[in-house]
Amino acid sequence: MILSWEDTLEGAQVPDDGRNVVIHEFAHQLDQDNGPANGAPWLRGRGRRARWARVMSAEFGALQQRAASGQPSLLSDYGATDPAEFFAVASEVFFEQPQQLAAEHAALYRELSGLYRVNPLSW
Ligand SMILES: [Zn+2]
Repeated sequence: MILSWEDTLEGAQVPDDGRNVVIHEFAHQLDQDNGPANGAPWLRGRGRRARWARVMSAEFGALQQRAASGQPSLLSDYGATDPAEFFAVASEVFFEQPQQLAAEHAALYRELSGLYRVNPLSW
């Protein structure tokens, strides 16, 4: 993975704006662990993978609808591009705006917390 230093500094400048290119690109790397990035990083257990798919596709669909109607959203419209970008954008918000994400997208927050095995709400 190659990151521009300028973008790295910019992403870290405001730690709670939900935008961070380093987190975004690391999410893509994790996603590619089991093949091409598709928004479904490897998870242990069929039940967990099924729940992940259910939550992520519902949230992705909702973001696509909001983006199409021009409504503002906690998650950037770029996340509506495809499932891989959705996962990367959601990861940025998970680490940078955990309170808002947990309040507005509780199921999505839980899935990301399970994947990353951290709870930024407690930081
Ligand atoms: Zn991306």
